[in-house]
Amino acid sequence: TLSEVFEVKETKMENVFQCLFNDGSERLCTKNMAVGSNVYGERLVKYQGVEYREWNAFRSKLAGAIMKGLKENPVKKGIKVLYLGAASGTTPSHISDIIEEKGKVYSVEFSPRVVRELILVAQKRPNMFPILADARFPQNYRSLVEDADVLYVDIAQPNQTDIAVYNAEFFLKHKGYMLLAIKARSIDVTKDPKEIYKTELEKIEKAGFVAEQVINLDPYDKDHSMFIAKYER
Ligand code: SAM
Repeated sequence: TLSEVFEVKETKMENVFQCLFNDGSERLCTKNMAVGSNVYGERLVKYQGVEYREWNAFRSKLAGAIMKGLKENPVKKGIKVLYLGAASGTTPSHISDIIEEKGKVYSVEFSPRVVRELILVAQKRPNMFPILADARFPQNYRSLVEDADVLYVDIAQPNQTDIAVYNAEFFLKHKGYMLLAIKARSIDVTKDPKEIYKTELEKIEKAGFVAEQVINLDPYDKDHSMFIAKYER
């Protein structure tokens, strides 16, 4: 069922829209590549013959980052994305909408149970490639993945920054971007988050990244921050 929408406007970010609903609420949304299907219970709306999907910032850290002041979205039409920690495809599906048919999102997830759901999402999205693999071992998916313009990492592991850097060495293009979701408490519960962010930032800078932004995702995500960094190989 389609929800009532009053107006849809494109934001300053390519293929990211604002939907103004009839109930007065304003939400991010993307053009639905899989017309008629939603992924996680989000509302679908039709406006001037085009179907859009609501993009819930409480469910997707990329939407949260946009709401919290992301300056430039490196996820654009036609690019290739390597996504680590795809889960059941909530954020990957919106990336799939943004990059359109010419783009590709390689979606790595290591939980077989979750991958089953991811495959159902990917079946309706020709630009989405689910990969059942452990992100700690990029060798195992090397032959399946092309070099990426964007590396998106959301694996909630204590050594996630090392895993991200290791994958960048394999797949991320020179001047490509990394979006790294960091949960301070999953790295070390006993440390001050500020200290943890500083240490993680130093790690990526040592690996050739130039940090452009660190976004605190509160209130969308209480203890996560998003690092946006450019790769200078
Ligand atoms: N990024 C998703 C989204 O926004 O829709 C949510 C990701 S969830 C926070 C983290 C996911 O990372 C889980 O599904 C987990 O199974 C996966 N994960 C954790 N460690 C992993 C690893 N080493 N390799 C691949 N996936 C991993």
